Amino acid sequence: MRRLLNKALSVLLTAAVFLGVTPISCGSILADEVATNEVSDFVERGYDLMLNRESDEEGLSFWTKELVDGNIDAAEMITQFIESPEYVGNKHTNEETVDILYNVMLNREAEEEGKAYWVNLLDTGFSSRRVVNGFATSEEFLGLCENYGIEAGMVNFTETRDLYPNITEFVGVCYISILERNPDADGINYWDNLLLTNEIYPEELVKAFICSPECSAKINSDADYIDALYRAFFYRSGEPEGIDYWTNYLKEGHSRDELFDEFMVSLEFADLLEKHELALRPTPTPTPTPVVADKMIALTFDDGPYSPVTNRILDMLEAYNGHATFFVVGDRVATYKECVLRAQSLGCEIANHTYDHKYTLSSLDAASIRWEISQCNQSIYNITGSYPKVMRPVGGAYNSTVSANVGLPMIIWNVDTQDWKNRDASLTASKILNNVSDGDIILMHDLYPSTASAMEYCIPILASQGYTFVTVSELAEAKGIDLSAGEAYYSLK
Ligand code: ZN
Repeated sequence: MRRLLNKALSVLLTAAVFLGVTPISCGSILADEVATNEVSDFVERGYDLMLNRESDEEGLSFWTKELVDGNIDAAEMITQFIESPEYVGNKHTNEETVDILYNVMLNREAEEEGKAYWVNLLDTGFSSRRVVNGFATSEEFLGLCENYGIEAGMVNFTETRDLYPNITEFVGVCYISILERNPDADGINYWDNLLLTNEIYPEELVKAFICSPECSAKINSDADYIDALYRAFFYRSGEPEGIDYWTNYLKEGHSRDELFDEFMVSLEFADLLEKHELALRPTPTPTPTPVVADKMIALTFDDGPYSPVTNRILDMLEAYNGHATFFVVGDRVATYKECVLRAQSLGCEIANHTYDHKYTLSSLDAASIRWEISQCNQSIYNITGSYPKVMRPVGGAYNSTVSANVGLPMIIWNVDTQDWKNRDASLTASKILNNVSDGDIILMHDLYPSTASAMEYCIPILASQGYTFVTVSELAEAKGIDLSAGEAYYSLK
């Protein structure tokens, strides 16, 4: 039942169409015939100029009918012709291709200006599809197709080079200006894709082209290199003043890479990139890893801990990402436990300054020396979980018995602030600022508020002068010095 109904409907529809075309005048039929002749002329021009042969009857009537019936449009037919093995096999020059398209599609010779435009487009690396599309969508061709009674249509772009004209123009001109030749289809699609996916950036493409065997073979002097940069970055030759300037730049000892970078960051290249909607590779955001500082010092604090002072010093170190070494007195460690743990967590070094600071070690016998050191080591270990790696004798005093029994490297100092004596922040600060240099070991005591004040004043200044604040062990490591037990160190340079 349903099939019958469908059949009836289809008959009715056919009748309606038929009825619709019946009241046609003789004049219209004639016009249609003329139009069909023009369409077959169009197809014939395609055979003649694009395939280089006369049409066969079957082919001519096939294409004419397809066009007239609207099964394909003119742009589609021309695309098929231009991509046929017959056309491609003839290896037409870009100029010939443009001439042929003028004749087939517009049925006339090319005018100079228009021809130059389309030839340039092909030279830059676009496919013939782009040119066919340009013709197909022109007012002139649309007018002709309207007269023929066929659809002009548009061309489908499938290759990267046609889909991203801004990139293709950039790459194409690089081929022409740097390699001094027109791009090939595979080459331009390859580089287009790399730029499109940000695998490379424009300046890297320029460098790759300049370094290619094709280009570098032609660079035999600084003058050649400068010329290549002008062509690569600005698409032009250098003006005499510019060439002189950059010639001197190289003579002054700058490298070619430095010169390349100067061109790369020029305003002229920036404008050009903007025009092509391209940009230089973004500069990476700074990583938080500390740079290797050229100047390091070891701030050292004896006789603590004492939290009212030690914590102020730790505040400053924390703010400036610095480390210091605290030569603690063993019997104070438990009392100021939090302070010691905080220093440790900030990366500071907890070091040995004897257990009770009562005697200079040089006045003690071997057993007493050992006792002072090991008791202090144990006090530190009990709080921090690790034994100290360095020690400082009380008053910096040592002799051969101390050296033989201390069991740790002895860290003395080379900058004495005399903070214990002056108790004056500005005096303490000036002792540091007037004497400091890379590798210094600076003596202070975290017992006096004036010492904390001196640090609050000095640390920002020293940081601005490029100093970083490291522990004694870090300083030794940075300087490649192996500290040995019983040995005295005054500075680490
Ligand atoms: Zn001391």
